[in-house]
Amino acid sequence: MSNALEYLKDELAELERQGLLLHPRTLEGATGARARFDGRDVINLASNNYLGLANHPRLDRAAADAALAFGAGSGAVRTIAGTMTMHQELERRFAAFKHAEAALMFQSGFTSNAGTVAALLGKDDVIVSDQLNHASIIDGARLSRAEIKVFPHKEADAADALLAETAGPGRRQLLTTDGVFSMDGDIAPLPALVEVAEKHGAIMMVDDAHASGVLGTGGAGTVDHFKLHGRVDIQVGTLSKAIGVLGGFIAGPPHLIEWLQNRGRPYLFSTSAPPAVVAACIAALDVIHDEPERLERLWTNTALFKDGLHGLGLDTGASETPITPVITGEEERTQVFARRLFDAGVFCPAIVFPTVARGRARVRTIVTADHTEDDLREALDVFERVGRELGLL
Ligand code: PMP
Repeated sequence: MSNALEYLKDELAELERQGLLLHPRTLEGATGARARFDGRDVINLASNNYLGLANHPRLDRAAADAALAFGAGSGAVRTIAGTMTMHQELERRFAAFKHAEAALMFQSGFTSNAGTVAALLGKDDVIVSDQLNHASIIDGARLSRAEIKVFPHKEADAADALLAETAGPGRRQLLTTDGVFSMDGDIAPLPALVEVAEKHGAIMMVDDAHASGVLGTGGAGTVDHFKLHGRVDIQVGTLSKAIGVLGGFIAGPPHLIEWLQNRGRPYLFSTSAPPAVVAACIAALDVIHDEPERLERLWTNTALFKDGLHGLGLDTGASETPITPVITGEEERTQVFARRLFDAGVFCPAIVFPTVARGRARVRTIVTADHTEDDLREALDVFERVGRELGLL
């Protein structure tokens, strides 16, 4: 072997020196409100399993039955021989769930965003994007080769100015935002953004990864939450968070879906989801419909936990959703905080630069419908004890 990759060792050492090298914990067993990581049983405030569906018995059964009936793999990409009737059923069900005309499944939320943005815009076009949008939107924007303009977080007026300044004959414009922001748990100002998009005739796209199954009636998402039905061109989402499985989807008008079937590169060039995944996603929609108390519990738990953190005097930033950061500021101190919380039985990761700005380090908590009141009160006691030990309270 040549030495051509030797430079990576230096790069990795540099990351380690800066405290930026990732050392993910290992889940030993199923995920859940309590789970075992690295040999320790902890209260799990680190997953995106909002509704507790990742190992719901109905999803497990649907996955197992589908694997036995239809096999472990789909055998091909969607456009060649990998479209099964169950893919189409899931897409119909998802369109109804999102109150959209049509929907398309992709392999992940990441490929849904990246593949959609890259398929819609070209080098003569412009993408106006919130500063805190997800990496997959950013990558899609880069792949499209369109001009990229970033507006300060949630500032619709700034988006308006950027759309005005970049307008030109034949130039397409996309205005895009996350519905719920993954590191802060705040909600996009979608009504204001929609007005701006309408004023400029721009395409409006929302990435509802953290809002699908979480916000709106029945978990329909941000568009439903703000009653903006019919005014957002593209709703993107993931099947990997509240839905509990894996995959992504795009919901919108039929001509958008047909275009993506022809020009969405992840759809065209990557094998379709296996039967177990698709069947489990369909079962997830059934459970969301049949067990609305899960969504209620998610929000009751969210309120209880947020109130508890506020009661301790901790800074939860602008969070309005089950994602609640506890902002501690300094990177090293935050790493120590997360480690000490883990050792005391609560798992929530430290999020530091470059994922968030320098000096805005935090531990990020996410409650789920499956946490009991006892789980959350115990977690708050641990926050209080460790917070005092570290002089954060
Ligand atoms: N968008 C946002 C805002 C996300 O947080 C994520 C997941 N980290 C994604 C998209 C990608 O979803 P997936 O994990 O299904 O690829």
